[in-house]
Amino acid sequence: MTTTAPYDKTNIFARILRGELPCKKVFENEFALAFEDIHPSAPVHVLVIPKGEFVSFDDFAAKASEVMQAGFWRAVGTVARQTGVDKTGYRIVANHGADAHQIVFHFHVHVIGGRQLSSKMANMPKELPQTA
Ligand code: 5GP
Repeated sequence: MTTTAPYDKTNIFARILRGELPCKKVFENEFALAFEDIHPSAPVHVLVIPKGEFVSFDDFAAKASEVMQAGFWRAVGTVARQTGVDKTGYRIVANHGADAHQIVFHFHVHVIGGRQLSSKMANMPKELPQTA
């Protein structure tokens, strides 16, 4: 899929949002749903997704309302505090498009922490998941 492809309502995260597929929920409000990544690369690896049809970060940044953007990023901060990684440190990642290995085309932010992460940003989390 290209970075300009339209939103596909059958993507996995859309199905999780609709309750058609299960998830290990961490947080939910009117703006966002957060759940554990199925293949965690650290003790805390939570995905935060907006409640709206946005293909990627670029799509979200360009099209989401100010209220949605503020509500979503507040939810990301809440997830970090709720999981405790705000005290030890964490990384937030949003993969956009092919070069960044985006594999699910519903915008999502990874909240990763719970251990010391690699200082090599460009290598995480896909290429070196064991040291991300
Ligand atoms: P990205 O698109 O940013 O490269 O990564 C998508 C992430 O979604 C991956 O870290 C992958 O492990 C996670 N993922 C893919 N399918 C599922 C699923 O069905 N459930 C959950 N909880 N995570 C998933």
